[in-house]
Amino acid sequence: MWTTTWRDETWSHLSDPWDVLIIGGGITGAGILREAVRLGLRALLVEQRDFAWGTSSRSSKLVHGGLRYLAQGHIGLTRASVRERKRLLAEGPGLIDPLGFLLATYKGDRPGRWTYKAGLSIYDLLALQWSHHYYSPQDFELLAPHLDRRGLKGGFRYGDAQTDDARLVLRVIREAVAAGGVALNYVAAEELLREGGRVAGARLVDRLQGRSAEVRAQVVINATGAWADRLRAQVGAPARIRPLRGSHLIFPAWRLPVAQALSFLHPQDRRPVFIFPWEGIALVGTTDLDHHAPLDDEPAIAPAEVSYLMAAVDSQFPSLSLGLDDIIATFAGVRPVIGTGRADPSKESRDHVVWEEEGLLTVTGGKLTTFRLIALDALRAARRHLPGMPRPSRRLPVLDRVDGPLPAAGLDEAQRRRLLGRYGAEAPALVAAAAPGELEAIAGTQTLWAELRWAARAEGVGHLDDLLLRRVRLGLLLEEGGRAILPQVRAVVQRELGWSDARWEEEEAAYLDLWRRAYYLPAGESIPDWHAAALAEAPRR
Ligand SMILES: Cc1cc2nc3c(=O)[nH]c(=O)nc-3n(C[C@H](O)[C@H](O)[C@H](O)COP(=O)(O)OP(=O)(O)OC[C@H]3O[C@@H](n4cnc5c(N)ncnc54)[C@H](O)[C@@H]3O)c2cc1C
Repeated sequence: MWTTTWRDETWSHLSDPWDVLIIGGGITGAGILREAVRLGLRALLVEQRDFAWGTSSRSSKLVHGGLRYLAQGHIGLTRASVRERKRLLAEGPGLIDPLGFLLATYKGDRPGRWTYKAGLSIYDLLALQWSHHYYSPQDFELLAPHLDRRGLKGGFRYGDAQTDDARLVLRVIREAVAAGGVALNYVAAEELLREGGRVAGARLVDRLQGRSAEVRAQVVINATGAWADRLRAQVGAPARIRPLRGSHLIFPAWRLPVAQALSFLHPQDRRPVFIFPWEGIALVGTTDLDHHAPLDDEPAIAPAEVSYLMAAVDSQFPSLSLGLDDIIATFAGVRPVIGTGRADPSKESRDHVVWEEEGLLTVTGGKLTTFRLIALDALRAARRHLPGMPRPSRRLPVLDRVDGPLPAAGLDEAQRRRLLGRYGAEAPALVAAAAPGELEAIAGTQTLWAELRWAARAEGVGHLDDLLLRRVRLGLLLEEGGRAILPQVRAVVQRELGWSDARWEEEEAAYLDLWRRAYYLPAGESIPDWHAAALAEAPRR
């Protein structure tokens, strides 16, 4: 799948009639493609950059209901999310895995223990489980070593889940393609085509090869997330999206050792924030701010956000004395939230919407966690224009079942599980493609060298950042985006990618430049001092 001739072969079929054209290759588009193919529809997905390049590789990577949404009264969204979490945990072990969350309670805290207890009970009941438990301060300290002990009264532990968001998108798209769907990255829908006053297709432009084609479909679905208003503007619809940026800091686990997630209220504004382990590093997030930069630029953390998140970490782990030098990487994503004009961005609803405007179906908002439900809603809306289309079923699993063991000497159980989760039915082919020594993990990560070879050979990599930031996540996990190991990476992937030396050097320079601009820190002197905010927490305790 997706070897060197894939793009040309696919391009030559674009003039075929399609049932559904899906614009946008994030989790929303991926889910719609998967479910459309399951229903027997001829479905084409196009993504203007790389698959998951948008928000779907820049989320907090939680598969969760979100206690915050529950606290805001979004019971329906929370219930749907925790039930999807349960399904995804069962369907995709190794890709969606359980994550314990800790919630400390301190003297004088508001909300206090009993409010949290009530919230967690509802959270668990909505999920039809009972995962939360209260621990004494002594036991809680064992769960969260290094946590500030001053005034600690104890705390809760409850169950949630996490994923690799970009790999989730890839797995869903590739399973859709294996089942007969078509997906192309680096193909933008530039102009909507109309017939009889209705949107009936789009003019597509291949951003790698510069060619263009007109594609017609019974239904055109705008799954472009934060970009949704652009296509909507072409049918005269008023702008509705309020792009909100959320940013994260990444620390090496040895500097910020957390064995499970810690959720707490930020000392400055009492917003819920978290610190959690992911892929061997510690992730701190997130912010929620209006994003005014152009959407086509890679979003990046702003100096004030760095300071805000540093104050959060410092308030919980003052003894670790973390500084900017400890940060390995950062990343920021833009939430496609439907704006209602609320002053506080965090008060805007995170639910999804399906709008039909002059035949254009727009599906946006929502969460990674609920992508299957969003896809089913979109297809239900599409059914009106697709006579004979079966009714989408809510019962079927969204991920394909992966049967059988993974034959690979030398892989431990965790590695097998990880490969089966991330690559599904393709995991055996990945292992078979590995050259000697490539079933080893890249130092400091859980990623195998073989994953790089496989991605370069078969996963539609267009540029080096596709490989290092989305197919695998080395750009987030290693210092300087993995600069030190680029010669070894090159030795594994350059021939697979068919790139000349000049092309490799160009790609490497572009990747490192992008990494510095969007995946690292802004200039140190621009970052406000955060110590005063973190200290303000101490007397409160
Ligand atoms: C900081 C942050 C943290 C989050 N954390 C979580 C979390 O922990 N758990 C959770 O469940 N959810 C989380 N979310 C929400 C979740 O990430 C998003 O709801 C989801 O990723 C949106 O997916 P999407 O496919 O709609 O949009 P996107 O992933 O942005 O995909 C849209 C795609 O459309 C493409 N596109 C745009 N215009 C065109 C065009 N003309 N032609 C072709 N392609 C086009 C874009 O390039 C983009 O890749 C978070 C969001 C943010 C911002």
